[in-house]
Amino acid sequence: MTQASCDSREILARLVAMDTVSSRSNLDLVHWVADYLGAQGVEVVLDHDAGRTKANLFASLGPRDAAGVCLHGHTDVVPVEGQTWTSDPFTLTERAGLLHGRGTCDMKAWIACALAAVPAWSRQRLRTPLHIALSYDEEVGCLGAPGLIQLFGRSVPRPALALIGEPSLLAPVSAHKGVVALSTRVTGHAVHSSLIHKGANAATAAAVMAAEIHRIARQWCHRPGPAGMQPGGPTMNVGVLRAGAARNMVADHAALDWDLRYRASDDPDELQREVHSAVDAALRQALGAAHERIRLETVDVARVPAFQARQDSRALALLRSLGVQAADSGVAYGAEAGQYAQAGIDTVIFGPGSIEQAHQADEFIAVDQLQACDAFMQRLGYWAQDHALVAPARVAEPAGAAP
Ligand SMILES: [Zn+2]
Repeated sequence: MTQASCDSREILARLVAMDTVSSRSNLDLVHWVADYLGAQGVEVVLDHDAGRTKANLFASLGPRDAAGVCLHGHTDVVPVEGQTWTSDPFTLTERAGLLHGRGTCDMKAWIACALAAVPAWSRQRLRTPLHIALSYDEEVGCLGAPGLIQLFGRSVPRPALALIGEPSLLAPVSAHKGVVALSTRVTGHAVHSSLIHKGANAATAAAVMAAEIHRIARQWCHRPGPAGMQPGGPTMNVGVLRAGAARNMVADHAALDWDLRYRASDDPDELQREVHSAVDAALRQALGAAHERIRLETVDVARVPAFQARQDSRALALLRSLGVQAADSGVAYGAEAGQYAQAGIDTVIFGPGSIEQAHQADEFIAVDQLQACDAFMQRLGYWAQDHALVAPARVAEPAGAAP
């Protein structure tokens, strides 16, 4: 395959063959894309992480000084360990109109379609620049995108609009939840298990806290969210609970890893305060006087801001003018749209494939979704050739993001 003549399927096969599970380097993929774009005469800017084992990539076609549209994708994928695959996850394999492989729908197909359109776009005289932005480490907390976004308006042009290609069956997604990843260390007082009246059991305290988190989350989740967001309200989940050293000791240590997922209309700090005061009351009731000897320390491990598209979203209007008719809706997962919106960029999620396939064994993108996305990229090229975006006035306050 020569790099000058690739269709989206060939490119997808290349991208899938490069194992970019988040724990690994994505440099092979990023360098391949840089070479591919270089062969089309398109310059790229790489932004490496501190360890220089990963990089974001930014490329731009069209005029340097005009307001453009950014097509954003993440390069990393989730692991395949513990999953039963019918064929090798890193070899693109067609069965019955479905192209299987890790990352096909989440979200290498989007990247492949954008890259496949580049030769045509570079022959067109674009009035609106089209940017391609690729990030690393989305699947482990959207860690790469902030570094990429920091380049905007400095070493690379600042996009006016952004499309984030998470799998949405090519329907617009106008809201996603934010995430606060939390770890709580519980310290108690250890004594022999025959003397429980003298100890303070951290394992019991952690269990009470986990139960209280669950109780509150069950109430919150029924609150209404944007259409399509299920559950609508905030949720919490305790994913890891570790405690104690031996059966015959009152445990003096425990730890919980948990997360809080919230709507753009919520204040996550306020929600956390509510949880901590309820946990405190529950511990007081469950442990009595021993409660005084239990210490809880909770730290934020990572935060992903919630996303709500602007009311007058021009990104959504652009999709409409490109023939996208499906109603916009919200989703419960976190993504990089909130980070773009927080930077004041008018953003919407829109990508091929279904989120139902993401992270699954035998993940796939349907051939017709790939073709529909190719057709979308073609329409976008013609649109960018015929239209110039008016740069939005820089908003003083970032729009659409949670505090
Ligand atoms: Zn994704």
